[in-house]
Amino acid sequence: MKITNVRCFQVAGPAEIPPNEERQIGMLDIYPEFAARSVPQTPTARLEAVYVEIDTDEGVRGLFGPIFSETAVIIRRRLAPLLLGQDPLASERLWDILYRQDRHARKGYAMMAISAVDCALWDLRGKALGLPVYRLLGGPTRDRVDCYASMLGYSLEPELVCERARMVADQGFRAQKWFFRYGPGDGIAGMEKNIALVRTVRAAVGPSVEIMFDCWMGWDATYAIRVLDRIADLQPRWLEEPVPADRIHDLALIRRTSRVPIAAGEHEYTRWGFLQLLQAQAVDVIQADPDWCGGISELVKICALASAFGCPVVPHGHSIHAAVHVIAAQSPATCPMAEFLLRAQPAKQYFHTEYLAPDRGSIALPTRPGLGIELDERRIDTRVEVI
Ligand SMILES: [Mg+2]
Repeated sequence: MKITNVRCFQVAGPAEIPPNEERQIGMLDIYPEFAARSVPQTPTARLEAVYVEIDTDEGVRGLFGPIFSETAVIIRRRLAPLLLGQDPLASERLWDILYRQDRHARKGYAMMAISAVDCALWDLRGKALGLPVYRLLGGPTRDRVDCYASMLGYSLEPELVCERARMVADQGFRAQKWFFRYGPGDGIAGMEKNIALVRTVRAAVGPSVEIMFDCWMGWDATYAIRVLDRIADLQPRWLEEPVPADRIHDLALIRRTSRVPIAAGEHEYTRWGFLQLLQAQAVDVIQADPDWCGGISELVKICALASAFGCPVVPHGHSIHAAVHVIAAQSPATCPMAEFLLRAQPAKQYFHTEYLAPDRGSIALPTRPGLGIELDERRIDTRVEVI
């Protein structure tokens, strides 16, 4: 079998997606003009999504997405010419060629482009062999994949937080993650609101649900240590990305200083990036994203690395398909659960024929060959090739 074409295309169609109720703190919030940003109040009437598709001379195709439009350009211009004529089943060879083709491809959009191609190639391999991808990776290690509810976009008004936190616990999620809205630029008043959020969530769900909190890199080490000192008794399962991803030593400092476990890694790439995090003893939980960190092939290597350090991997949930297949093929000790973004997933999977989502807090393993992503042409009124 040979690869005959690597295409990227954008699909679009009418949709009705409600706006987010709140946004999270971010790195730019140290500047007042960026801190003043609010979430758009209007619903989305149209959605667009970009996919990568790989054709072969035997008619088998691999599909993956949605992907970032920035990566589609890299896939078309740099990766596609190298893939033409190659054996799509030779996963190690293809990843290595894509990694070596560009000396700037170590991180960022270039590695995200490699990730997208790698995921599409795994879909292709599954379809070629008639098996779900987790079977090719050595799974299944379980029948269902536990998910935690990721609450990005929900209002942080205390009454609503309480209501939604209970709702999600009642839906069967045994863990849920909330996103802080305030950071060092918001002073003591903002810090108190952050601490109040943790108290509200813990009071709402009681002691038997895990609660996590994400800072989206919007804090600094001192701020994180001060907050953790106040919330440690409320037993958060983890504090996520308290500082920008490059501040590995700040992560290690926070981890040494606090009893609260530290999670990070959604903005880290490849086995070499995660080796640094592990060697610096900077994290208790690794959150590599298969859509970004180097694909399914690389996430499997990161899992092997993390397991040697006794550090669990809870993949970040940019999308859900690739992560579920990898998790379903790893020891539950290495990959205990997946992230499921409750508000974002309907839009991310809008153009798919099937909605892959948890029921009572866990996802039944997909049974279709490949990753199980198929486009629903009835929802698509425009399709444009990325060239
Ligand atoms: Mg996060």
